[in-house]
Amino acid sequence: MIKRWATRLALIGILLTLFVALPLAYPAPLFAYGVVESDLSVYSDRPIPDPQARQFLQKVREKLDQSPIQEERPPMQIYVVNTNWRWRWLWIVPNNAAGGFIARPATRQYTFFSGANFETDELISPSGYRTQPPRTLDYYGAHELTHVMTANAVGLLRFQQMPEWVREGLADYVALEREKSAELFAKIGERDADLPMMRAYGVYAPYRLLVTHFLEEKGWSIDQLLQSELTLVEARAIVFRDLR
Ligand SMILES: [Zn+2]
Repeated sequence: MIKRWATRLALIGILLTLFVALPLAYPAPLFAYGVVESDLSVYSDRPIPDPQARQFLQKVREKLDQSPIQEERPPMQIYVVNTNWRWRWLWIVPNNAAGGFIARPATRQYTFFSGANFETDELISPSGYRTQPPRTLDYYGAHELTHVMTANAVGLLRFQQMPEWVREGLADYVALEREKSAELFAKIGERDADLPMMRAYGVYAPYRLLVTHFLEEKGWSIDQLLQSELTLVEARAIVFRDLR
């Protein structure tokens, strides 16, 4: 009797794992439409306008070309989840307000978007909010694919354990137009990010400030940054001392 129940439970466990992990690891059958632009491609559950999608992928590539991570880039993909049932199935991240995510190791060289309008260059967040510049579609593309590149460069364990200011600050550093740390500091000061700041300067402006300053003013190499163990408080103390 006990044995039979143990077998049933194990079976349910396996089925649940498959149900959650399989579409993340092999999402292609859920997305009927796609545009491929050399090593980058975008897939969606709704038709994608070809010229705009190509333009979007080209902009993402330009940003990734400027990334300090110079590892060889594998072909990478973006999957756009517009329909609600697909979103409910795939959005397994703890922060389910996120407009995009990667979940390594299941999501190998790709990311998911919670919805996109290529004509208006808007990402549609799970709450229905449509993002505005500077948070354009290519901002999200370059941000999420920088996470993929970072995980490739440092390995999964380090990617999960690295300070959040490094992981997210670097992704926004690649995804947004470059500016001197002093310029950004003049705009955001020493505040934590709030909603108006996120909308004006990207989601992680305080972290981007630190990354910009260490790479451009302190002369850190990308490896130094990726292996940094400085806490947010320690990193801010160093950077604010320079910028005040
Ligand atoms: Zn991120």
